[in-house]
Amino acid sequence: MMKKQVVLYKKLSPALMTRLHERVEVTLIDSLDSAGLAQLRDALPHAHGLLGASLKLDADLLDLAPNLEAIASVSVGVDNYDIDYLTERRILLSNTPDVLTETTADTGFALILATARRVVELANMVRAGQWNRNIGPAQFGSDVHGKTLGIIGMGRIGEALAQRGHFGFGMPVIYHSHSPKPAVEQRFSAQYRSLTELLQQADFICLTLPLTAETEGLIGVEQFALMRPESIFINISRGKVVDEAALIEALRAGQIRAAGLDVFEREPLSPDSPLLQLNNVVATPHIGSATHETREAMAQCAVDNLLAALAGERPVNLVNPVVWKG
Ligand code: NAP
Repeated sequence: MMKKQVVLYKKLSPALMTRLHERVEVTLIDSLDSAGLAQLRDALPHAHGLLGASLKLDADLLDLAPNLEAIASVSVGVDNYDIDYLTERRILLSNTPDVLTETTADTGFALILATARRVVELANMVRAGQWNRNIGPAQFGSDVHGKTLGIIGMGRIGEALAQRGHFGFGMPVIYHSHSPKPAVEQRFSAQYRSLTELLQQADFICLTLPLTAETEGLIGVEQFALMRPESIFINISRGKVVDEAALIEALRAGQIRAAGLDVFEREPLSPDSPLLQLNNVVATPHIGSATHETREAMAQCAVDNLLAALAGERPVNLVNPVVWKG
């Protein structure tokens, strides 16, 4: 029987490549520069499966792939896919939840600690040879332990963040989500708040919700105005959940103390971004899940999902289950 054709637009480890080669024909697109995109367009007409991350796969591209059965995203976020369009075409979309939850929560805590204790700013000062006397109040940060942790989007990553805050740092946890989560409230003594209350009360305001039509621009001028001058804003979800111009204004005006940002409206972040002029911003290049262990686990999960779909089995992490024939 003819092997099915899979197009990868993400490099995989040799072990995963071997697994794929045993079952399918593979075309690897090395990078998504203009030459890579041209290669992708050439490969799509034959593709039964796609595997990769971050690429905006819209109808323009997917209309080139009449045989496409499944897309395996190496991510938990699926905001770069038109799910209605995929469902209409009966293309199975899978993602990689769970395996990245703990690592992404670690990233959130790295940003919490880095912003509160001014780690990057002060490490840069030392590196620049400017540590010439004992530091004083001008370099002091603020405590993390015991402060109120506010989590917007109490899903898998939100819960892992709550666990760290509650057990590791003795932080009272408040959260906002679509609906209250009694199990989370019990485990971490967490309390549900309206969005307005959370923004007014939290010392650390952490975004851990997905980018959807409903969450795009959720945090803007009005929401920053509700925060306190000592609040620290952390975004490990998606850049477009925040109005970045409003964030920059809030930081400049001292409406909030600092921001720890892993995601941005446009990625990669432009070197000209005003965010990079501000000492109280810690910006990381979308590294939420970027550890060797977790990226390998995500790739493995995506390969499992794709091979299952192409073999006519239900992928474990199916995003659009209505497509599944049952
Ligand atoms: P999840 O388990 O689905 O959790 C998301 C939570 O957000 C859900 O509990 C949901 O609440 C809540 N939510 C959705 N829309 C909301 C709204 N309009 N208002 C209030 N709450 C809302 O997802 P996850 O695995 O934790 O991942 C969350 C997101 O993190 C992903 O979608 C991805 O964009 C981002 N992420 C980023 C990185 C990174 O590298 N920085 C890495 C991994 C993930 P209900 O349960 O009440 O519906």
